[in-house]
Amino acid sequence: KSKDKGGNLVAAYVASLHAQAEERRVMEQELRGALDRGEFEMYYQPVVTAADGTLNGFEGLIRWNNQKLGNVSPGRFIPLAEDSRLISPIGEWVLRTACHEAMRWPSNLKVAVNVSAEQLTDPAFASVVVSALAQSGLPPERLEIEVTESVFLRDGGGAAQLLDQLISLGIRLSLDDFGTGYSSLGYLRKTQFSTIKVDRSFVVGAAKGSIESIAIIRAVVALADSLGMSTTAEGAETEVEVDTLRALGCSNIQGYYYGRPMPASDVLTLFRRPDSLDTEAA
Ligand code: C2E
Ligand code: MG
Ligand code: MG
Ligand code: MG
Repeated sequence: KSKDKGGNLVAAYVASLHAQAEERRVMEQELRGALDRGEFEMYYQPVVTAADGTLNGFEGLIRWNNQKLGNVSPGRFIPLAEDSRLISPIGEWVLRTACHEAMRWPSNLKVAVNVSAEQLTDPAFASVVVSALAQSGLPPERLEIEVTESVFLRDGGGAAQLLDQLISLGIRLSLDDFGTGYSSLGYLRKTQFSTIKVDRSFVVGAAKGSIESIAIIRAVVALADSLGMSTTAEGAETEVEVDTLRALGCSNIQGYYYGRPMPASDVLTLFRRPDSLDTEAA
């Protein structure tokens, strides 16, 4: 009897593995044609100054709507794109679209773009950035590129060299999801980041009074201060979280409290009603 039960469990497990593999296969197949079919769209989420809630810029976040699969979150399809060499063309589209759309914003606002470690293994990446800036006319100081610590794990120095090239173009670099990976402070010495992004998990913890989360945010803020970098706290949803982050000295805040990621057209609407952000911030 118990042997039968175990057999059923194994069969169910094997079936679910097959289902997962099949889902992945379909998704990869759909992903291959997604650019040509125009299925991607950039959304933009406000980043504000912690002290007074004024708008600093937006982070661009890709969205995928596919006929068969519906809306697929980047958390699901970006890893697949990274594994299947599709990330370079998709990443290039992201960069060009974000630079282009940011040109329609007030000229004091920055745009941040996420770049995968795989994109930085392509030696042509810097020239794609140069071309995106030139074609859109966006000044390099308005572009921020977000990478995670994983870029440094990948290869022996190639990524760091590429990042230096980007800095010499005049664009800024942010270190995303700080504290969630294999954090080594050595990276901060190797590459001149402008901003450290504090992961949402610490934000949630700190607002709940977690001693560890509070200590970590304090340490990151102190480290950033002494190295001449700013900090952006990610994923603040509540007033308590925002107040906590302000008290801890974070420079910038991003999160649903100030605004969800929105289509480019909604960003433009925001500028026609300039007080719409301030009311949420108050
Ligand atoms: P990320 O760069 O750390 O982006 C922040 C994520 O947190 C976004 O999820 C955003 O929608 C979400 N978020 C922002 N505020 C809040 C909040 O208050 N509460 C909660 N619960 N979540 C919040 P999203 O858009 O699903 O993106 C997930 C990840 O996918 C990103 O994490 C980034 O690593 C990757 N990604 C997104 N767009 C791109 C892209 O264009 N290129 C690449 N390479 N990766 C991208
Ligand atoms: Mg990011
Ligand atoms: Mg992040
Ligand atoms: Mg993240």
